[in-house]
Amino acid sequence: MLWKSRIAAALCCLAALSSPLGAAWAAQEQDQAAAAGAGSRAEWYVGEDHFWKMGTYIEIKAFSKNPDEIAGFIRTAEALVEKYDDMLSVHKKSPLKAVNDNAGGWVEVPEEAAMLAEKSVEVGALTEGAFDPTIGPVVNLWKIGFGGDRVPSDEEIAAQLAKVDSSKIEIKRENGAVFMKIAEGQQLDLGGIAKGYIGDRIAEALKAAGCEKAIINLGGNVNVVGSSYSGGAWKVGVRRPDHGEEMTWLAVVDMQDESVVTSGSYERYFEKDGRRYGHIISPATGRPVELDIASVSLVSAGKGAETDALGTAFFVMGWDASVEFLRRHREYKALLLSKDMKRLLATENLRGKVVVSDPEIKLEFLR
Ligand code: FAD
Ligand code: MG
Repeated sequence: MLWKSRIAAALCCLAALSSPLGAAWAAQEQDQAAAAGAGSRAEWYVGEDHFWKMGTYIEIKAFSKNPDEIAGFIRTAEALVEKYDDMLSVHKKSPLKAVNDNAGGWVEVPEEAAMLAEKSVEVGALTEGAFDPTIGPVVNLWKIGFGGDRVPSDEEIAAQLAKVDSSKIEIKRENGAVFMKIAEGQQLDLGGIAKGYIGDRIAEALKAAGCEKAIINLGGNVNVVGSSYSGGAWKVGVRRPDHGEEMTWLAVVDMQDESVVTSGSYERYFEKDGRRYGHIISPATGRPVELDIASVSLVSAGKGAETDALGTAFFVMGWDASVEFLRRHREYKALLLSKDMKRLLATENLRGKVVVSDPEIKLEFLR
């Protein structure tokens, strides 16, 4: 679809069409376009595509002053979603699935798959094991989000947990080829890190193709390319995680050539005996984490993989340890929403870039 002079409507559309699974973030146009004057806004054409892939709802919007370029930009983005789904999915035949299916043996993989596995091990070390890409056997036992509806026995959990150990991932590079090996019984799961990586690659490819403005929403992980029409930041809305399909913003963040990745345990879960079991698993206990954080969002320029994994790790670490982590690592830009949804804690480097739109929520900055 292609519009001219209809940008506000198109972006409204993006918000309204956000993931039926409940994406936490969606890009949102604000008043900058109007502030910049109707003339500048009217110069831009916009094209969009939205589809299901990687188990999530994906939206791509590309803008250009030349309408002939837009279809190419959209195709570039779509092709990359396909490429990484084919490479990193563990839900269908892929190089990563081959590593799992041949656990105990060496399997040739694309360099990027090896790099992402290495990055996930790095974040594992940074978070003292809260993020672990070998969590696969435990994830597959609980099957949360994949029809799982029972609490496994302690013995079942212990048996699968014994296989979780990221130090057993081996990677070797020989004669230009890359090989990966995991221990017998192990299963890699890059679901907590891959989308952040993929969003950055799409943004990068669009820029390289000459696209000056774009919005990529991979099930709630949003990358923006360039600046808004006014030349200022894009306004990206963070959605209340408890309002289901409704688009209720709890905050809006200014972003420019950046991504925001969000983790939450409110999309994939089951309930049993009054308890909610979410899809983020503690590598220490082999059980879904007890949630004391409602939602975590991290903003970065080109660090989508790291921040995606970190967001997942924060749920495992819990509120206090995550806050301590952010005090020690001032380079991260983060927003933590408390379980009771009354406090939104932002890192100091987001001061002036976050506006809370929900009167129930108090914005605080990390000291
Ligand atoms: P995040 O918080 O970023 O990650 C949570 C996920 O990380 C969990 O679901 C689990 O997989 C993993 N995890 C849990 N605990 C830990 C831990 N302690 N350390 C490390 N990792 C942990 N889903 C489908 O239903 N069908 C598909 O066909 C499908 N294809 C996919 C293809 C690709 C290439 C990718 C990357 C994912 C695919 N998914 C698919 C998975 C789906 O999109 C997941 O919901 C998503 O990856 C989880 O991301 P999130 O942003 O919701 O949560
Ligand atoms: Mg994550």
